[in-house]
Amino acid sequence: MAQAEVGLIGLGVMGANLALNIAENGFPIAVYNRTTEKTEAFYAEAGDLQDKIVPCESFEALVAAIRPPRPIIIMVKAGDPVDQQIAALKELLEANDIIIDAGNANFRDTQRRFDDLKDSGLTFIGMGVSGGEEGARHGPSIMVGGTPESYDRVSEMLDAISAKYKGQPCSAYLGTDGAGHFVKTIHNGIEYADMQMIAEVYGVLRDGVGMTAPEIGDVFARWDNGRLDSYLTEITAKVLKATDPETGQPVPDIILDRAGQKGTGRWSVIEAQQMGVPATVIEAAVAARSLSAAKAEREAAEDVYGAGRGALDLLDRDELIDDLELALFAGKISAYAQGFAVMAAASDEFGWNLPMDTIAKIWRAGCIIRSQFLDDIAASFEKDRDLSNLLMAPDFVAMMKSAHPSLRHIVSTAVKAGIAVPALSAALAYFDGYRQGRGTANLIQAQRDFFGAHSFERIDAEGAHHGPWGLD
Ligand code: NAP
Repeated sequence: MAQAEVGLIGLGVMGANLALNIAENGFPIAVYNRTTEKTEAFYAEAGDLQDKIVPCESFEALVAAIRPPRPIIIMVKAGDPVDQQIAALKELLEANDIIIDAGNANFRDTQRRFDDLKDSGLTFIGMGVSGGEEGARHGPSIMVGGTPESYDRVSEMLDAISAKYKGQPCSAYLGTDGAGHFVKTIHNGIEYADMQMIAEVYGVLRDGVGMTAPEIGDVFARWDNGRLDSYLTEITAKVLKATDPETGQPVPDIILDRAGQKGTGRWSVIEAQQMGVPATVIEAAVAARSLSAAKAEREAAEDVYGAGRGALDLLDRDELIDDLELALFAGKISAYAQGFAVMAAASDEFGWNLPMDTIAKIWRAGCIIRSQFLDDIAASFEKDRDLSNLLMAPDFVAMMKSAHPSLRHIVSTAVKAGIAVPALSAALAYFDGYRQGRGTANLIQAQRDFFGAHSFERIDAEGAHHGPWGLD
């Protein structure tokens, strides 16, 4: 076989599937994994694609197998393992070679690595890849950060392996250094919010209405044909309708209610807080996962207080289900508005000039939050690239006007019944806060001035003022 055109380190779930995707798209690839047996098994199972794959047992063999200048993709566990691969490669690579970290890196690590390699002659690309195992194999959404020049050298391959939305590749250059990994982080943050709001709707139907998992699955399956059409709606319907072969029970009923998390949701919230941008729906979702993890404590608290959940005050079940659909839709609009606002702030802060319309476009297929809805978001940002908030896009104003009363109805109904809906509540509170020309921060300012002489602005005069505290 001729020399490989690209290399890949890390044949775990994502790396193995990405390597097969690259080979299948006609790019000969050299692969290496720390545990050699995994490389051997991967090659043995590659079938017809074997003639496009060079299995390597060392970094030296990997580097020798690729035609210079070499693009090498690292797809290992995020964190120190990435630094270890870079250190090993640095010794062996030559000027113009490109190291591409395709894992879920914290964008601050990506910025550091980008800077560290700046004077080495090598280039660094931080690349967010979304779509899980299936996406990696058949077309993920790819978010690239680096230099435009290094991107140009790999864009043909990335376009080829990425998902396609109506024929358009879901892969794009988004900005320098950590831009790609930052956007991937916010993608995951939005994913957390989306999943949590779906789980809350499931909770309302399960605990408030008494519906079974397959019945709720039917509702989601129906919604998947309408405004909530998305991958997450689709898989929610499927998992709710699945049966456990061992017990014959619906699968969701035999799964422990303790959610895992790997960090990207939390990073989204931390970065949003750092920049002073509300990301309360994402934050509620992260917190809900953390609370879910405290299973024993929750059980003890239920013994003390009782679960407190009651059936909903229900007049018409079908009407409630229609309201839930609109409520979830309104919640999504709030969550996505927050996610895009966080990206806009980061774009200013880090000088990335993030193309919001392109981001929405490359999320339309391949990634976990892919949906019809993202096509509408892309269209709004395309019409107005300087849109301050999705909630102010004319098309979304119309959608939100028709959907927010349902969100209010569902949140208040759930709250009355003692059903926790933290993300939906946060979405509603954000909307209500966002649309208030005069809020209540005047009182906060008065308090701050009272105890700390921080001063306040007056509505009727310029400058900094103090209150007449202590006068009576
Ligand atoms: P995985 O199946 O657990 O595989 C981990 C890979 O990392 C293996 O190849 C492993 O090598 C390697 N590795 C771990 N520690 C290492 C070290 N110290 N030195 C060298 N190699 C090391 O993980 P994955 O799901 O493919 O995830 C890989 C990356 O993609 C992560 O950053 C993850 O967050 C990201 N990601 C995952 C998904 C997903 O849905 N799974 C989606 C998007 C992004 P050994 O075989 O030798 O252990």
